[in-house]
Amino acid sequence: MSFESRTATRLRPFMTTIFAEMSALAVEHGAINLGQGFPDTDGPESMLEAARRAITDGHNQYPPGIGVPELRHAVARHQREHYELDYDPDREVLITVGATEAIAGAVVGLIEPGDEVIMIEPYYDAYAATVAMASGVRRVVPLVEDGDGFRLDRERLADAFGPKSAVFIVNTPHNPTGTVLSDDDIAEIARLCIEFDVIAVCDEVYEHLLFDGRTHTPLATLPGMRERTLRISSAAKTFNCTGWKVGWISGPPELIAATKTAKQYMSYVGSGPFQPAVAHALDNEMGWVRASAAALQDKRDMITAALLDVGFDVHRSEATYFVCADPRPLGVDDGIEFCRSLPERIGVAAVPVSVFADDREPWHHLVRFAFAKRDDVIAEAADRLRKL
Ligand code: PMP
Ligand code: GLN
Repeated sequence: MSFESRTATRLRPFMTTIFAEMSALAVEHGAINLGQGFPDTDGPESMLEAARRAITDGHNQYPPGIGVPELRHAVARHQREHYELDYDPDREVLITVGATEAIAGAVVGLIEPGDEVIMIEPYYDAYAATVAMASGVRRVVPLVEDGDGFRLDRERLADAFGPKSAVFIVNTPHNPTGTVLSDDDIAEIARLCIEFDVIAVCDEVYEHLLFDGRTHTPLATLPGMRERTLRISSAAKTFNCTGWKVGWISGPPELIAATKTAKQYMSYVGSGPFQPAVAHALDNEMGWVRASAAALQDKRDMITAALLDVGFDVHRSEATYFVCADPRPLGVDDGIEFCRSLPERIGVAAVPVSVFADDREPWHHLVRFAFAKRDDVIAEAADRLRKL
């Protein structure tokens, strides 16, 4: 009997994540891992120290189900300061085990079997798996090329909404493309969510990592949206601590209650000593985050220049840890094959974008490189890429 035959049918398409597959290949071949998106330097020292202190001071048992009060208050303050969004830290903020659990809690907590969940294609892989776990039906709205960047396919956006639409998972800044949705795209999403009474679940984990002076507009700030929006973020990418798994979700009490109902039977709670440390960082280390975003912009420029130099076509990365490159000028048009061979051939790992799409054809060739790495690591990766 195979592993697959014992796995529930609805989960079989999701058995190994592309990140696990490519990271394993990177380890096997000693490759530089520009596949899975995680930084190779630590977050702010005062945050690390606060976590050590929390352990020493005995914050080692279950935290409260909704999260420690200092983190919930810090999350609420943060959103007030950055976006003038007011959330009650006791009823409208829930701490989760990373953004991943926030997304899962929201989808499982909100939808009925057969309800439709809309997402932008290419989509972060956890969305599709989560919708399958909740016995929902996935509907996708593709991005389309727009100059050297991407925008939403407006016709497909309008077509995606219907009587069964329950939730729209809106991811901007967008993984894997590094696109920041335009104000017009955001406004159109808001209009349709209101018209079709759809709840927006906004994955904004890259909210602070925008480049070239761009700014992030949460969908929840648009008229009529706060009451139908759950905003999700996470310490992982903001403070370089992907292993801590501290996330949060904010929204009106009835949507938070639905999320909490599911969440409390997923993990119940998590990351006890890391919660006060992230609260400290949100209150005191946004200067560190601004410097980190500026450094990431330089890293984006470094990897973009190297990829162009080798002969790739490169899409504009406006935010996030990621840039997408088109290897067709090098005579390569199968991104999956290319990524499977890359670690062994030249000692670099990347991920193919098509695995994040239902309709793989338009994304067949595209490859995502993660650049949240030390400058010397990017320089070494650039040297290796030149062997192509
Ligand atoms: N959403 C997106 C778009 C991501 O790229 C990631 C990976 N950081 C997550 C969610 C998961 O976040 P976390 O590690 O906080 O669970
Ligand atoms: N968010 C990270 C990425 O997109 C990976 C997270 C994971 O391994 N699931 O690369």
